[in-house]
Amino acid sequence: MKVDILTIFPDFFRGPLDYGILRRARETGLVEISIHDLRGFTRDKHRTVDDRPFGGGEGMVLKPEPIFECIETLNVAPRAERIARRSKQSVIVLSAQGKRLEQALVQDLAALDRLVLICGRYEGVDERVSEHLADREISIGDYVLSGGELGAAVMVDTITRLIPGAVGNEASTRQESFTSRAEDEEATGEGPSSTCASGGLLDYPHYTRPAEFRGLAVPKVLVNGNHDEIRRWRRRTALEKTLRNRPDLLDWAALSEEDRKLLAEVEKQQTTIG
Ligand code: SAH
Repeated sequence: MKVDILTIFPDFFRGPLDYGILRRARETGLVEISIHDLRGFTRDKHRTVDDRPFGGGEGMVLKPEPIFECIETLNVAPRAERIARRSKQSVIVLSAQGKRLEQALVQDLAALDRLVLICGRYEGVDERVSEHLADREISIGDYVLSGGELGAAVMVDTITRLIPGAVGNEASTRQESFTSRAEDEEATGEGPSSTCASGGLLDYPHYTRPAEFRGLAVPKVLVNGNHDEIRRWRRRTALEKTLRNRPDLLDWAALSEEDRKLLAEVEKQQTTIG
């Protein structure tokens, strides 16, 4: 996958893309990331990238010309083809007003082969960029960042780890929080781990050695080696955590008969405790 990032702060990306899975994916050529400094596409001596908003009001707005000119050098598919999904490319404006980034969208984007990410600053980006150049606007969550750079880094991170070959054990990315059942079904492998994929729930709790630490023991079921009991425990704790922290996910999760029974037990227990 090729990723181009347009920003007025190119140095921002020193660091966030240089560790772990992302670093390896870049080194092995699974993902190629180019950072473009928008000031390089200005024509005045002050290299101006922003201007005051028409209609008045607070702050500054990123000008359209450097963004259009930068993208014209990148040889991306025409907007109409991107919108019609006839090309495996997307030009995206990072925006608090965008569609919220969720794992299902990350999965869709990971299937593309070219992404161009436009990072806003100040009050945002001249709307003509979204209307005539980009094919989507994406928000990384319901809060306001001071710039799109953190959002772009989040997107590159979440997308890269889904590219086949990026994560050592591919099955592991299919069992994480939010991952849908359709993805799970493609998973292969044996043992308890492959059978307790999230199905749209939050992930189950993880423990490692030592089995006892400062008097705190790990759940016995995890050390007794009974795969079926481990699977059931993981599913139950994933349901518990989802009910406690993100009950909204239960409306969409793929729940089996067994899940519903477990959930009823968990709910009963929580009302008794509560
Ligand atoms: N005036 C805008 C906020 C601008 S913040 C509003 O109220 O919606 C400046 C830049 O930060 C934006 O142009 C965008 O690129 C980035 N940004 C802010 N919040 C974001 C979010 N939740 N997700 C992605 N990018 C965001």
